[in-house]
Amino acid sequence: MRKNIAAGNWKMNLDLEAGKKLASEVVNMVNDEVSNDAEIILIPPFIHLTAVNQLIGSASNIQLGAQNCHQEKGGAYTGEISLEMLKSVGAEYVVIGHSERREYFGEDNALLAAKTKAVLDNGLKPIYCCGEKLDVREADKHFELNKEQIVEGLFDLSKDEILNVVIAYEPVWAIGTGVTASNEQAQEMHAFIRGLIADKYDQETADSISILYGGSVKPGNAKELFEQPDVDGGLVGGASLKSRDFTDIIKSF
Ligand code: PEP
Repeated sequence: MRKNIAAGNWKMNLDLEAGKKLASEVVNMVNDEVSNDAEIILIPPFIHLTAVNQLIGSASNIQLGAQNCHQEKGGAYTGEISLEMLKSVGAEYVVIGHSERREYFGEDNALLAAKTKAVLDNGLKPIYCCGEKLDVREADKHFELNKEQIVEGLFDLSKDEILNVVIAYEPVWAIGTGVTASNEQAQEMHAFIRGLIADKYDQETADSISILYGGSVKPGNAKELFEQPDVDGGLVGGASLKSRDFTDIIKSF
């Protein structure tokens, strides 16, 4: 179901005490200050999921997400985390195909399609990331590249399945760089992605999917990005590590 979403990806940051402090600050600020109906997702490192879930408590507008998963049910995969495990600690969402996973861990579209399917088969919701590097944009191949990532990662899903996917368009050149895509660049790519879904499935399906923008979202640029007709919120890295900034981003809807 299409909704406004602010998701905070903590990446590999914060020890347990710092993570608990951040989560409790966000929960308190959201309770005190946020009156919109946006869904908020906290995405800490795996090892903090249980503690953060306890701090979220019964706050129904705040959900828990994981940054990755393994696609197999379980077994001899040392160092990996299964979807059963994620479910058992309260995760509702799983980020799939973040550009850092694609770049540093060699995750390709075929693997990401398998992970996405496994997330859905386990009753969780994938946040499927796509996005081009700077050289691809400069070569004017960004639509082609994003299409490939969407088609190969998602289009084996049924209509019922894709309705439970959240997509995050994250131009790699804007992640952690302080450079944000312009409102026009974000809107243009989000509309393109929604068009791909309409062509493959139908318009109603495309209109029901949340497409988030990610790449240096801050309190100062969130409002105008979120006002774009096809931008349904943000996947936020750096600014989600500061409770004040993240809450202000949530209040931008
Ligand atoms: C991200 O981690 O997905 C991200 C968009 O990071 P940042 O907001 O720091 O650019």
